[in-house]
Amino acid sequence: MNSDKIKELKNRINYCKNIVITTHKNPDGDAIGSSLALYHFYKKKNFNVKVIVPNQYPSFLAWLPANDEIIVYEDDKKAASDLLFKADIIFCLDYNSLNRTGGLFELLKNNNAVKILIDHHLKPSNDEFDYIFSETDTSSTAELIFDFINKSGDIALVDKNIAECLYVGIVTDTGSFSYSCNNSKTYTIVAELVKTGIDCALIHDFVYNSFSFSRVKLLGFTLYQRLIVLPEYHTAYIYLSKSDFEKFDFKNGDTEGIVNYPLSIKGIYFSVLFTEKEDYVKMSLRSKGEFCVNEFVRDNFNGGGHKNAAGGESFLSLQKTIDKFVNLLPFYSEKIKKSF
Ligand code: 5GP
Ligand code: MN
Repeated sequence: MNSDKIKELKNRINYCKNIVITTHKNPDGDAIGSSLALYHFYKKKNFNVKVIVPNQYPSFLAWLPANDEIIVYEDDKKAASDLLFKADIIFCLDYNSLNRTGGLFELLKNNNAVKILIDHHLKPSNDEFDYIFSETDTSSTAELIFDFINKSGDIALVDKNIAECLYVGIVTDTGSFSYSCNNSKTYTIVAELVKTGIDCALIHDFVYNSFSFSRVKLLGFTLYQRLIVLPEYHTAYIYLSKSDFEKFDFKNGDTEGIVNYPLSIKGIYFSVLFTEKEDYVKMSLRSKGEFCVNEFVRDNFNGGGHKNAAGGESFLSLQKTIDKFVNLLPFYSEKIKKSF
């Protein structure tokens, strides 16, 4: 991150009052952790600051400090649009393009506030933002928020609240330090966070051991009945229909992490989860090694993300989406085979 650009921005922000922090649709641990960390930072600096997210996020994040301050656009459209209307500064965290913000898209697109992107996804939409801090080889946006605060000259303001939020961002975006985790800088930042007195074991417990009984049963059912392995393509996929979700009393976030299970099978390098939503099919893709799932989903299903973790949407039926996916595999088999 460029220190001069951050200092210039700091001076500009100092003349402003109202800051709004936004993140992408279906917010994950990094989206919420980064947003709340920056919220605490500007709160300490006495700005009027709010976090607005497009839709609900998983309940395993709801313990984070200042969780109650988050405005969910889909639940309170008026509050969200009033705040965005008054905003001087809008932070855009953990997304590379405004079209990742669901229902917030129109409100952001037509907004004249200064828009600041801080993100680690490939190919940021340069025209949509006034300041861009995009580093694609960073584990998480949370790491970039730490950098941003540090290079603003405010590291002394990083307290336990900020550290807890940033730690959640880093832990969830690295799968508990199991991918995107080969950079020593990540651990240097984590060391700084630990110094504030955060309890890493407790945070891990909040994030990973907070499932409902029905969520655990959904996982068992999914692995037994809905997992298809295609060894010839080193690929496996999982599909879950609307009626499956009804059977297991589905709550937002219940499918979190399920896409990773197929990668625990020896010889499987590419895993996809298809979930049937009200009017589309959500796809989550993961890979091991060199196979770029973001390119695969960008070229075929209008999505994007990172090399080893990406997502997309299909407007075909669940079965037609799966058929299209399976029919594509022969064209990618060499790349998948050499991935790992
Ligand atoms: P997940 O599978 O956890 O929903 O998403 C994995 C990664 O892909 C995340 O980094 C997320 O930002 C990105 N991603 C998920 N869904 C989409 C999508 O519909 N479009 C794009 N461009 N990226 C997505
Ligand atoms: Mn992220």
